[in-house]
Amino acid sequence: MDELTCRSCIDRMEDLMHLFMCKKRRLPMQQILQSYQNHLISKLLEASNLADIDPSPFIAKLTSLSCWSFSSTNWSTFALIRGCLPKLFIDLFVDLSIPRTSAIKVIAAIHNNFVQKFRRRIWNPRSYEKSRWENAMNITYKLKTTPKPSNLPLSTYIPYSSLPPPTLHVSRDSGTDWLKNSMKYGLP
Ligand SMILES: [Zn+2]
Repeated sequence: MDELTCRSCIDRMEDLMHLFMCKKRRLPMQQILQSYQNHLISKLLEASNLADIDPSPFIAKLTSLSCWSFSSTNWSTFALIRGCLPKLFIDLFVDLSIPRTSAIKVIAAIHNNFVQKFRRRIWNPRSYEKSRWENAMNITYKLKTTPKPSNLPLSTYIPYSSLPPPTLHVSRDSGTDWLKNSMKYGLP
């Protein structure tokens, strides 16, 4: 396991894309995106109702955006998470006779809700798992560097830190001897 391995699936290296591509995050991520889309649709329905316009083509345009279906080769979902919203979001409302400034306010509120959900359901659990692992590593590190571990009898335990630094030549030879001997005579 590597420091960069994803703590959630212990399967892949963690980068920003993996943060929501991770198999442990896919379902919540899909739900968050779906709720983002639902919020927009309900506001589009309100606007089309006010303007007395058929909402179907507007909703079709919205749902066909590539940001709703994410994959490792589709960066538009990633862009959305980073705060790059499709311009179409605003255009749809403007085409339904909603003033641009009002449209921006509505979309900002919906996007803010999305960001909160992303933090709560994707980022926080990920950080929790990461810190849990780091705590575990700290404990191991402390054990390794404690000169007198109280749980081990001192006579059978030589702390690694008390040993002189090995020279490459000597350690390689003694290693070979040990390997040769154990192959000849069997392991002790
Ligand atoms: Zn993962």
